[in-house]
Amino acid sequence: MFSSARPTSKNQAQSNVFFGFIRFVFLFLGLTLSSLTRSCPQESNGNLNEGIYGIKNSYAVELQEWTDHINKTKELIGNMAMDVEKQKKMKGVLKQMLAKRDDLLRNYNRTQEIILTLKLIDPVLFNEIDQIKDKEGSRVAVYVKAIDKFGEKNGIYATTNLDQCKGNENIYTSPYGDRTVSVTVNSGQEAVLLLAHEFGHVKYQVPNLAFYYKYFKETYLKDGFNPAVPGHFSKDPSRLSVKKTLTRFKRLYRQYKQDTKHTDEIFVSH
Ligand SMILES: [Zn+2]
Repeated sequence: MFSSARPTSKNQAQSNVFFGFIRFVFLFLGLTLSSLTRSCPQESNGNLNEGIYGIKNSYAVELQEWTDHINKTKELIGNMAMDVEKQKKMKGVLKQMLAKRDDLLRNYNRTQEIILTLKLIDPVLFNEIDQIKDKEGSRVAVYVKAIDKFGEKNGIYATTNLDQCKGNENIYTSPYGDRTVSVTVNSGQEAVLLLAHEFGHVKYQVPNLAFYYKYFKETYLKDGFNPAVPGHFSKDPSRLSVKKTLTRFKRLYRQYKQDTKHTDEIFVSH
């Protein structure tokens, strides 16, 4: 499914409060967390996900940042001559940071599992997206993020962002920077199908961005018009790309399910 909107949730609101608290403590100590709040980095290359282009696990960047900040915080606690009250406060912050990192690690692993399952089912689709180039022949990074219960409130269980770089209508941009796409899927049981669906959008939208951006605006963003799920009119070229992608993928997915069921039976028969 498609939506350019990024819905806010209670979790995000709680997260903002938490970030605010962390920022306050760091400012108190003369540090800032600017790298956690930057809006549009030129490129992101977390150590847990090598390379700049291709399919990326979105959590790798955050995980690396939190690990760096946790290490700095541990260093501060160990080295700075702080009074007992400050030490206590910092240890409390560290505990929250460690809990946040555990949460990120769980989400990172689930996202990794979904991406690798898709690769196992349909390596051709995986490679197409991993190698995807825009109209100018530049490679693009596709950031994938699986979120628990994503879309359960509005019924849109997966999204691909749609945005152009300022000054060049052929260059895709997302919160991860220029020449990047952001894909979000619900982390539930059929997440791999949702990801294949979104990759169908990515496959069309990256090389045809200038045309599709204009088409999308003229088709779905007219005054007083509010389709439930923009991007899915019958003749929408991005939707047709999804349809074609899923026709192939669902056949392979059925085969994969049969194969893995068969494997399970072999194990059970021991
Ligand atoms: Zn869609």
